[in-house]
Amino acid sequence: MKPAPFEYFCPATLDEAMALLAQNGSDAKPLAGGQSLVPAMNFRLATPAVLVDLNALTDLAHITVGEDSIRIGAMTRHCALERSALVARELPLVAQTMPFVAHAAIRARGTIGGSLAHADPAAELPAVMLALRATVKLQSRDAIRFVPAADFFTGLFSTAMDPGEVLTEVAVPRARGRMGYAFDEISRRRGDFALVGVAAAVAVDASGTCTTARAALVSVADRPILSEQVSRALVGQRPSAALIRDAAESAASTDIDPPGDIHASSRYRRRLAAVLTRRVLERAFQSLESA
Ligand code: FAD
Repeated sequence: MKPAPFEYFCPATLDEAMALLAQNGSDAKPLAGGQSLVPAMNFRLATPAVLVDLNALTDLAHITVGEDSIRIGAMTRHCALERSALVARELPLVAQTMPFVAHAAIRARGTIGGSLAHADPAAELPAVMLALRATVKLQSRDAIRFVPAADFFTGLFSTAMDPGEVLTEVAVPRARGRMGYAFDEISRRRGDFALVGVAAAVAVDASGTCTTARAALVSVADRPILSEQVSRALVGQRPSAALIRDAAESAASTDIDPPGDIHASSRYRRRLAAVLTRRVLERAFQSLESA
């Protein structure tokens, strides 16, 4: 298939990109790595009349350590996150997750901004950003606003972004004290989208009492889901194998109502969610012991 006709612009500045998007409203789409948009255009699932290519905006490709947060520019490629020593040190959950995102060739082009803006419920990075309490920065010709990941994903391939807005940056709060992290997923083949995936972030205080327990699930709903049951069951408790298992079981039975499709039934996805949530929570708590 070939895409429907479109006009192509490659602005040299963010201001120019935002002006083009503002002029063309919902007829225009930003182009980042093209790894989701171009196939969708070729299948005519997306038919933007105007493409605004962000690839010349090199200022949007950065990983910056601030006092309170790590800021990642929207055009930072998946492979840059995967290979960054800074990400490995400051954002171990992101570093652990990147090898699960598609294949190396796709990671060479795909961007964090594209992945979050595309809002595929089977994508890993939206769930990771939910688990890490990240905030996205949205810029348009007229305004700048900051939206927490918890409010950003509004449905299947839908976000809180308005036409004319560009996602320019993601800010991940820096951990205060020691945190444990883990990510895991089950997919049919390595590199495929996850049938189910789970990202976890945990912390305990000096007495071993859990102070943070966040588990975000991939591919179980129309958007990434942050488990309420996991934090309810674990925060304030001393984590044990039995408590973790019970937390994972109630996350899978209460927090989600997964869809079924040709790859996995709803029941199978729910089972995977329970097993993976237990596994990643165990690994996240274990990583605290070995730190
Ligand atoms: P694009 O394709 O360029 O854009 C995607 C959408 O986001 C478009 O609507 C575009 O207008 C919008 N957009 C892009 N950037 C911005 C911005 N800065 N501001 C506002 N809107 C923006 N992803 C996974 O997470 N896990 C996988 O396992 C996985 N497997 C894949 C397997 C294959 C075979 C392919 C082709 C892709 C796969 N992907 C997977 C998707 C890949 O990670 C994409 O890179 C990602 O989803 C989109 O990023 P992109 O930079 O390519 O965005």
